[in-house]
This record gives sequence, C-alpha cells and structure tokens, in this order.
Amino acid sequence: MRYFSLNDHSITASFEEAVVQGIARDRGLFFPKKIPRLPASFFEEISIFSSTEIAKEVISPFIGEEIPEEALIDIIEKTLDFDFPVNELEPNVSVLELFHGPTLAFKDVGAKFMAGCLEYFIKKGTGGEVTVLVATSGDTGGAVANGFLGVEGIKVVILYPSGKVSELQERQLTTLGRNITALEVDGAFDECQDMVKTAFLDREVTEKVQLTSANSINIARWLPQMFYYFLAWKDLKEKNKKLVFSIPSGNFGNICAGLMAAEMGLPIDHFVASTNANDVVPAFLSSGKFSDQPSVATISNAMDVGNPSNFVRILEMFENNMESLKKKLSAFSFDDDLTKDAMKAVYHNSNYIMDPHGAVGYLGLRSFLKKNKDFYGVFLETAHPVKFADTVKEATGREIEIPSAIADIMNSEKKAEKISTYEDLKSFLLR
Ligand SMILES: *Cc1c(COP(=O)(O)O)cnc(C)c1O
Repeated sequence: MRYFSLNDHSITASFEEAVVQGIARDRGLFFPKKIPRLPASFFEEISIFSSTEIAKEVISPFIGEEIPEEALIDIIEKTLDFDFPVNELEPNVSVLELFHGPTLAFKDVGAKFMAGCLEYFIKKGTGGEVTVLVATSGDTGGAVANGFLGVEGIKVVILYPSGKVSELQERQLTTLGRNITALEVDGAFDECQDMVKTAFLDREVTEKVQLTSANSINIARWLPQMFYYFLAWKDLKEKNKKLVFSIPSGNFGNICAGLMAAEMGLPIDHFVASTNANDVVPAFLSSGKFSDQPSVATISNAMDVGNPSNFVRILEMFENNMESLKKKLSAFSFDDDLTKDAMKAVYHNSNYIMDPHGAVGYLGLRSFLKKNKDFYGVFLETAHPVKFADTVKEATGREIEIPSAIADIMNSEKKAEKISTYEDLKSFLLR
C-alpha cells in the first residue's frame, strides 16, 4: 500500500517509510491511497474466525507484501493478548471495554502493534536504530513504554510534565528502565509537546538520530485501532439492529479508525464523537467552521486537546463533504459536572463503574439514542477506572483497588532525568 501526505498528495511513502518517519516531510499526515473493501463473505462468516484471523484480514491490505504473513501474525498475536469484552448495561446500551491491556489503556493496542512493525523493519536490516520520541499527558507514555520495552534497536524517550500526571501513570513511565528513558519536564504538557516538535525540526538532531513519533499520527498506531470495532461487531452481529458507536475523543485517532473500519465495509451505521469541554469538533459540526482552541483542563484529561490532529483524516475520508460526514457522524460535548453525574447514575442504576472518559462516551451515546430509538448503542470505555480513582471516589463514593497485575509497579523505583529547556533535550538526544 502507498500512502500520501495530506498536505501534498505528490509526497508518497510505503508502509515502512510511513511508519519509520511518522509524519511526512512536509508535516502532513499520511493517508492510504486507497481504502480497501472487505468481501461480503468475510462479514457473513466472521463468527468462525479467531481474533487474529480477523485482525490479519483487516490490516493486511494496508501493509501489502512489506511484512510477510507469518511475521504479521506474530505481531498481531502479541498485540491482541488481552480481552475486549462487550457488556450490556441497559436495554440497547452496551459498553466495549478496551482497558484490559498491560497499562490499562486502549492505547496498548496501537503501541504494541507499532512496536512490532518497527522491530520487524529493524531486524530485517532496512531500518537502522530508531529513537521514539513522545510527549505524554498521561496514558500515551505508559502504553508506548510498555509496547517498546526491550525491543532491540529502539530507544524510547518520553517527556512528561512534572507533577501533572497521576502517580500510577508516572510509575508506568519511570520504572521500566532498559531502553526506556523518562524525562521529567519542569513545565506543562504543551511545553513537552513543543520540545518534541522542535526536535523533529532540528537538523542537527535529525541528521544524527533517526527520530519517529509514537502518537496516533503514526499509521501503525492509528490503523490497528480498527481491530476492536471488528471484534465487537462479531459479538453484536446477532442483534440484527442498526448500530451506533460512541467514542470518547481527544485527538480523534480512535474514532477515525472506527470510521475507516466502516469504510472497509463494517456494518456500523453511525458514530458519535463524544468530547469534554474541548469541543472543537462538536462546534464544527454545528457551525461548519473549524477553529482550534487552546485546550482546557478537565477530569477526562486524556481528551484535553484543542486541535485534534486526526480530524483532517476524517475530512479526507468524506472528501470534505459536510453533508455526507453528518450522515455518519454526530458530536456532543459535556462538562465535568455532567460527566460526574453520569458516573454516579450508572453506578447506582447498573452497579457499573465508569472512568471519566467512558462516562463522556456514555453521555454522547445517550444523547444520540434519545432521538434515534431504532439504534443499538455501544460506548467505548477507554481507561480502567482505577487510573482516575479520585474522581471515581468523588462521583460514586467507591474506592477501587489497583489490579494485582500492575500493583507491583507502585513499589518499583522511579527513575527520571529532570529537564527544563529544549537545550536540555537536545543535549540528551545528541549524547
Ligand atoms: C487517548 C485517550 C482518549 C482519546 O483518544 P483519541 O484517539 O486521541 O481521540 C480517550 N480516552 C483515554 C483514556 C485516552 O487515553
């Protein structure tokens, strides 16, 4: 498969080049030249396929010959080594839980898949040593650190804002060691992100170090997120109803993957982009004008994004046609009070604990179903509630325990280098 830059369609790349570069030379996002359609027989027979077989069918056309089948299956098996359960909470409402991975975040899927692809290219000898440079406001860093841990030929450098991630999140970044370095930045997330962007544009750095990004801009992190929509559909097919999925959205990578799955033929009839107070996309759908905004802090902090990078991919998919986009996508925004009210209500009515991100997804789904009663709805629960234990306690009165699988890291030693300026980062990278 070839990919082109959304800024300049004459700049193209193979799958490998797009994964290794992360972003095109002209800073455009890569997009596949053609969106493959899966045959009707695949959907008719889906119940006989394993998760690995489904994922392979879905992703193969995007990779082509660049990774042989056996190696691809290996990457997929390592990626999908946890469950994605769908549970019905209320009549016509199910939750798709994506937080059973090693760092309790749905980002584990994309991070592991990307790590597997990069490892394959490096072992094959076509890619030299690569440094994955990433800024995190919380969840991305942990998932990336875990996904790339111990992968030969890859160094991971994670910048995080000092004092602004939860203790659990900080431990996930700073206790692994080996090829993972955490840089604790004296500043906010925006400053971490600016430093990363500056490094990508700094010739002195990029001539010496092959840098790549590991956020959802990278196609190897974005595309595998299609898997869980297919896996969930396998469970829901029997319902024989029109389906709507509500996705708590920040950078819009996850929902963009869902829309892509639908373009490939997956029978999901509608999507809801659910956001917190950072409502750039809901505002765009109602006004027709896209204007990015500085992000505002909320209790669903992984979605505090003022300029969602993947939205251009969604516009490309719909050829910038507002009418066809609106047929497939609705968007709603909710403030923190509504989010906490929803957490409380669902806990009381269904005895189910949502994290603040999932709660925003739930609210978006409810808003859509109110006017569209013939649909069956699913919302995505993107983080384990223990990651937001304080908010959960406040909203529901419930304490949650850290699952034993990750309890160990709370006792591991934190190791991070403190930096405060871009020059600090630069000298670290050139060391
Ligand atoms: C990253 C993240 C999101 C937002 O996903 P996007 O693909 O950026 O829209 C939602 N919830 C949680 C818990 C996250 O970590």
